[in-house]
Amino acid sequence: MAYRKFKADNLFDGYRFVEEDKVLITDEEGVIQDIVIDRDAGDDVQQFKGILTPGFINCHCHLELSHMKGLIPEGTGLIKFVLYVVQQRHFPQEEILQAIENAEDEMISDGIVAAGDICNNALTLLQKKKGRLYYHNFIEASGFNPQIADQRFQRSVDFFREYANSYSIPVESNSIVPHAPYSVADELWELIINFPGNHLLTIHNQESAGEDQWFKYKQGEFSELYEQMNIDTSFFQPSGKSSLQTYLPKFLRNQSVILVHNVHTSENDILFCQPACRQAGCKLFWCLCPLANQYISQLLPPVDLLLKHNCDLVLGTDSLASNHQLSILEEMKMILQHFSHIKMETVLKWATFNGARALQLEQLLGSFEKGKRPGIVWIDQDLQKSKRIL
Ligand SMILES: [Zn+2]
Repeated sequence: MAYRKFKADNLFDGYRFVEEDKVLITDEEGVIQDIVIDRDAGDDVQQFKGILTPGFINCHCHLELSHMKGLIPEGTGLIKFVLYVVQQRHFPQEEILQAIENAEDEMISDGIVAAGDICNNALTLLQKKKGRLYYHNFIEASGFNPQIADQRFQRSVDFFREYANSYSIPVESNSIVPHAPYSVADELWELIINFPGNHLLTIHNQESAGEDQWFKYKQGEFSELYEQMNIDTSFFQPSGKSSLQTYLPKFLRNQSVILVHNVHTSENDILFCQPACRQAGCKLFWCLCPLANQYISQLLPPVDLLLKHNCDLVLGTDSLASNHQLSILEEMKMILQHFSHIKMETVLKWATFNGARALQLEQLLGSFEKGKRPGIVWIDQDLQKSKRIL
């Protein structure tokens, strides 16, 4: 068998930086064979300045919104941002498809090997069928009005079938998921979580302060959103609790959930989640999309709190509607700049092994372990660029 051999100033294996004298060995296809001491590696070792890491996992994106790059001004806050997204619907299909292809190209060349992708239509299917990236398709359902729950759910089931049937990935790589706590009626929620095979879910969580105000008191900026969207909320009863504490117990046993954004998650929320999850038998991952949070609301998630309570963190880029690029390296740099006590090794683990676990792809991706084919990504010494090398 022909081998490929790689050495770097810093070799990150998915968990930690390994000792300086270690060499990564793969076969021609990039399947990991071993990590050995350099004197045992033989000839033809390729040497890199900077970091070598397993391929990145982007746990949250919306490829279908790629044509909205640069369209929405920064700093609008979530309500205006959501209204922009739902109102901007008039683009030629050709333009949308081209933007999807360009966005996927960008993800691949920057070192992303798998993505958790939110789908509200089947427009990304054509690109995904090319099989260049692993995807978990999160078919999103929303509808705050209980009367339209069946109709909205059926629409999602139709998209689910379209993805599951025409796409050669395993059916487990598709789920139907709730968009956000404030956009899914209880009736729709029931249909979503009980959908057969829905073992991996995701939800936009506590992205704005108004979300908690709505669930606690039925007040605040969300009243404006419903009004502008002509949604009748007369049936809604506030729970008196935060959004997360209201909906988390509604997930089923054995469902894994990726909570996305978490900008306004409090320490009480985190403390609530741990026993609630143990009791409910669900597994939580906390996905940070710091550049999108900056773009939309000039805020950052409570990274220190999440770390203090040993939460499993992962990273996402969100969409090009709320980000200037789809780069996991840029998300990591944002964290490192704003939380300077956090180590590169820590964020790299979120970007690789943790992400692979969150998307349930850890048998294949996320670390340099024998038999996996995680992709090999090079990051230059100044953290200016990342590039897939195998
Ligand atoms: Zn999103």
